[in-house]
Amino acid sequence: MQEIILGKLGEVALKGLNRHTFEEKLMTNLRRRLQYTGEFLITSRQSTIYIEPKNENCDIEAAYAAAKQVFGLAAVSRAMPCEKSKEAILETAKVYLRDEIMGARSFKVESKRSDKNFPMTSIQISQWVGGELNEAFPHLSVDVHKPELTVHVEVRENSAFVHRTAEKGAGGLPIGMGGIAVSLLSGGIDSPVSSWMIAKRGVSLEMVHFFSPPYTSPQARAKVLKLAQELTGWCGRLRVHIVPFTEIQEEIRRAVPEEYFTLIMRRFMMRISEQVARKTGASALVTGESLGQVASQTIEAIACSGDATSWPVLRPLIGMDKTDIVALSRRIGTFDTSILPYEDCCTVFTPRHPRTHPRVEDVRDLEAKMDVDALVKKAMDGIEIVTVRYTSEEQA
Ligand code: ATP
Ligand code: MG
Repeated sequence: MQEIILGKLGEVALKGLNRHTFEEKLMTNLRRRLQYTGEFLITSRQSTIYIEPKNENCDIEAAYAAAKQVFGLAAVSRAMPCEKSKEAILETAKVYLRDEIMGARSFKVESKRSDKNFPMTSIQISQWVGGELNEAFPHLSVDVHKPELTVHVEVRENSAFVHRTAEKGAGGLPIGMGGIAVSLLSGGIDSPVSSWMIAKRGVSLEMVHFFSPPYTSPQARAKVLKLAQELTGWCGRLRVHIVPFTEIQEEIRRAVPEEYFTLIMRRFMMRISEQVARKTGASALVTGESLGQVASQTIEAIACSGDATSWPVLRPLIGMDKTDIVALSRRIGTFDTSILPYEDCCTVFTPRHPRTHPRVEDVRDLEAKMDVDALVKKAMDGIEIVTVRYTSEEQA
């Protein structure tokens, strides 16, 4: 018999969300994410998703790790099927859960029976299996209120199952439920995290990166693509729109006082991202801005960049501390790449004394000295789109 994977649905219970659409989307995303780990039958029943190997060639470890990255599952666990008899259930629990049993001091058994022809009720199953386990492992005591280990038994039509302890899933909502957004991805720590947070809410992402050769190196560009690749474990295939930004930065340097460089550069980023959003059917922009983190992230500076677009700008990190952002970046697996030392286009033209409390009117006046529309158009015309896939096997 082969292990299976179980997933518990996340926020589907929220009112206003269509449960059926949620489940379908979640299962489609799971099928896509698990396809390189083997052939699985993925079905849903009573708020649980069942992921069952169809043959011997399935890599259950890899599939389990993959399932933990699919948004929409609040918890995941593994389970071992066995023959539908109390003796087989007990024997499976003893062998399959040996490590968990040895590491626990108290336990209880919880049973679920969907096969009503099984000769015991779920309470009887729990009592019998619990009693036998207690005898076989004298170091265990029964605690029905706060046990260290809960042994889950399930009796279904085709077989019985003993479950492992569940682990946290990725949470959130299945990608594709929440529309599309354009996420501004730099090479830093913050923007991969902000992208992840919005993807977690069910939003498909189009990534935009501003690139300034020769001031920024090919390694800086490769680093951003690597970050995008690391996000595909969670998001699936991503398109990165690489925008040539050198000319705009040089023009800013020529036309405006140094203290306004970053502010005006951000406004160009917003305008171009809005154009990318129009082209890709997206309806919002996402940035990794966090209030007060750097000079360009004061309330006034954020107001200045927001003023360049009428589109909603989502800033999921706005109230987060850097330490929490770093912890999240480690958890999602982007931190080590983010700290590679290649310069970003922002660092190249950083003013020595940036304006921290700019006035929107002043910034607009300064910009009037530049041909904003022509610069934006030229940058748009020069965009290169790179598609980043989770594996090289993945189809376009
Ligand atoms: P990050 O760690 O994401 O680089 P940061 O703290 O360095 O953020 P800034 O450099 O001020 O902050 O950038 C603020 C936000 O602007 C970034 O989080 C990102 O969303 C966007 N951004 C900055 N530079 C770029 C770039 N070269 N390409 C795309 N987006 C960018
Ligand atoms: Mg940065």
